[in-house]
Amino acid sequence: MRQAGPVAHLLSRIDNEVIRFAPFAVLVFDEDDVVEIANPEALRILEGCSGLTEVVGIAVGAVFPGVDFSKVGPDSLFQISAQGKHFAIELQCVEIRQEDCRKTIVYLSQAGGCRQRELLLEKEASTDELSGLANRRAFQRTMESNQHRTLSLAIVDIDEFKLVNDRHGHTAGDDVIQLVSSQLQQFFNDNAILITRMGGDEFSILFETIDVELIVESLNEFREKIDSSQLPHQPDVKVNVSIGIAISMRASVGTRRLLTEADQQLYIAKQAGRNRVAHVLLDQ
Ligand code: GH3
Ligand code: MG
Repeated sequence: MRQAGPVAHLLSRIDNEVIRFAPFAVLVFDEDDVVEIANPEALRILEGCSGLTEVVGIAVGAVFPGVDFSKVGPDSLFQISAQGKHFAIELQCVEIRQEDCRKTIVYLSQAGGCRQRELLLEKEASTDELSGLANRRAFQRTMESNQHRTLSLAIVDIDEFKLVNDRHGHTAGDDVIQLVSSQLQQFFNDNAILITRMGGDEFSILFETIDVELIVESLNEFREKIDSSQLPHQPDVKVNVSIGIAISMRASVGTRRLLTEADQQLYIAKQAGRNRVAHVLLDQ
């Protein structure tokens, strides 16, 4: 861990003393996602939930197993399981960057009965029942809260899905939706900001634009993977997808335009014969 220059300056901004005496629980993670500061209130909550009595120097994965901090938004609720009991923990994350230094401040609280129910209801209202993916409501909220980032959006639509329903029945259609959903999750869960069932046979994957080639390549791989997938009990059901991708190179492109451009690329992929990927780079 570096202690000089910008890090020291950043730490002075965080103000250790304010954190120590805060009436709420605070943890600060360093740029390697290792706990640097834990105030007494945070230790009290963590000890009650997981038995940890000291967390400084411990990596984020050991303090919050299974929690992906890049996906923590306002009012995120997580379950921590320890000694056969489940604890609902609310986390809010704030990232502070200065030059090449990054600190993550995490506020945590243990959700009581009412609040826990409220958050679980909120989660239910953001989830699509058939696929288990985020629904359009969650998509809109995520787009709004990420509009300052440079984003890429892929729209995935099942090819000639109406024929699946017509030839094999609605239940087989539902199975195809679930197959594509689980493949989307397996493929993109680690890198996507959000995977959504937009409605019907249409899905979206939202990424931060970090590596353009990787985004296009991975969606092509996904398309091939679906091309070679089968429903376990109905191997005669053929499944293909077409994909439109809009890749913004600047945050100023805006999320509305991103969606319109991704839709346009999907249209191009369909017109070009389906079972293919089309993409556009947007730099203004
Ligand atoms: P294209 O290649 O142009 O996308 O053709 P398509 O047949 O896939 O056309 P479209 O995307 O318009 O078809 C969507 C169909 O999906 C229409 C609707 O009946 C069906 N659908 C929508 N929601 C569900 C669902 O939850 N389950 C099932 N089984 N079918 C659904
Ligand atoms: Mg379709």
